[in-house]
Amino acid sequence: MANETTLQAIIAHAKEYGFIFPSSEIYDGLGAVYDYGQWGVELKRNIRDYWWKSMTQMHQNIVGIDSSIFMHPTVWKASGHVDNFSDPMVDNKDSKKRYRADHLIEGHAETLSKEDGDALLARMDALMAAEDLNGLRQLLIDNHIKCPVSGTSNWTDIRQFNLMFSTEVGSVADDTSTIYLRPETAQGIFVNFLNVQKTGRMKIPFGIAQVGKAFRNEIVARGFIFRMREFEQMEMQFFVRPGTQKEWYEYWKKERKAWHASLGIKEENERFHNHVKLAHYADAACDIEYNFPMGFKEVEGIHSRTDFDLSRHQEFSKKKMQYFDQEINPETGKIYGNYIPYVIETSIGLDRAVLMVLSEAYREEDLSTEDKQDSRVVLQFHPKVAPIKLAILPLTKKDGLPELAQQLMQDCMGSFKCFYEEKDAIGKRYRRMDAIGTPYCVTIDHQTLEDQTVTIRYRDTMQQERIALSEVKRLVLSSL
Ligand code: ATP
Repeated sequence: MANETTLQAIIAHAKEYGFIFPSSEIYDGLGAVYDYGQWGVELKRNIRDYWWKSMTQMHQNIVGIDSSIFMHPTVWKASGHVDNFSDPMVDNKDSKKRYRADHLIEGHAETLSKEDGDALLARMDALMAAEDLNGLRQLLIDNHIKCPVSGTSNWTDIRQFNLMFSTEVGSVADDTSTIYLRPETAQGIFVNFLNVQKTGRMKIPFGIAQVGKAFRNEIVARGFIFRMREFEQMEMQFFVRPGTQKEWYEYWKKERKAWHASLGIKEENERFHNHVKLAHYADAACDIEYNFPMGFKEVEGIHSRTDFDLSRHQEFSKKKMQYFDQEINPETGKIYGNYIPYVIETSIGLDRAVLMVLSEAYREEDLSTEDKQDSRVVLQFHPKVAPIKLAILPLTKKDGLPELAQQLMQDCMGSFKCFYEEKDAIGKRYRRMDAIGTPYCVTIDHQTLEDQTVTIRYRDTMQQERIALSEVKRLVLSSL
């Protein structure tokens, strides 16, 4: 389904059915910033809660934290973000459009043969590594890479553009009061490593998980909620004994892939992409890429970060970031003793996960028969993440049916999200529930008054069957 039309259809559907709106829409929106509506927020929350549970509840050695968005400015010097967290930016003088130079070159490489494309990318990587911005510009010109809007190669110089947003604390605006909005949540975990390890009496290997907002002043933000300037990350740093990082890296690759599958993501729609050019601190890194409507793109990163972050914080803060390992090393017969742990990181964008789940669930179905044209849009969410699990629909507004329906509502609403509706023909109500991905609809009718059975209608197959009213709650719960 790799096409822009599908992306446009998903964006329109998400807006029409209360999932995602452009931010400040009455003022024509704000670039690459979005708001979640009534059903989007439930979907997002369900994905976040499922991630949180799978990390902190389903692993005995992972705990969570919630650190603040503002951090001491030195954190970002230590992490390398002040010096290195930048993208090469170039403007086209004719169209006045701004691009990431690496994106332009990557786009061009895709139009070439595999051999020529790879050679171009290798050249680009070398120039980027050498921070040769003039060379990078020359590469654009030599390869006749043009602005898609003006069609010219009239490029400005390339400049490095730091992606961190800065602001001032307090009333005096000088250098010392400049702070950043965090561009990732991971550093909040690293600076709390000792706090959590000591107060939680955590033994290696153990993990710290966090979900929270991150901010990046992306030069070119497109792809709906794929690339935003304000977004949420779900990150987990797993601290291990040096030398064991390879096996934990493989463990987390498997774990995370299984998590995606348990959300209903099809095997053929995902792949691992190994980083060829590793960041200087990483000894292995890969992305899980999902087949978004605009093609395979990163949704999650799994990185073996060595002891880089903790060592840098030790260096900058002058506080020891060590762990005292009392276990016996079978090779030496002595305890492992003090060391700075190595780290495996799993980092997934919550909003990208929402877009992945939406893309996987979105279906336009033609239901036409010989005598009638018909179609529907259905979101086939896994019940776990569906905004509403059960719609309770009295067939009519009278004869005691609403009262009976409300009783079922009272019985179920404490256990999962239900939706009650009595307006419009039942078929119309079903279609509305399909469009927001409600897996089960239950209709209360006159027969219910007689024999305490209801019609349950399944979203994906549209099959209906009669079951006991008393069975409804159990059936929904068993699918979550
Ligand atoms: P990209 O190459 O797409 O810019 P990245 O490699 O810089 O992403 P990381 O720094 O590894 O991303 O961040 C971890 C995760 O955070 C990504 O896998 C992605 O899901 C999410 N993420 C990063 N930047 C954004 C953004 N601007 N909008 C939404 N999600 C983002």
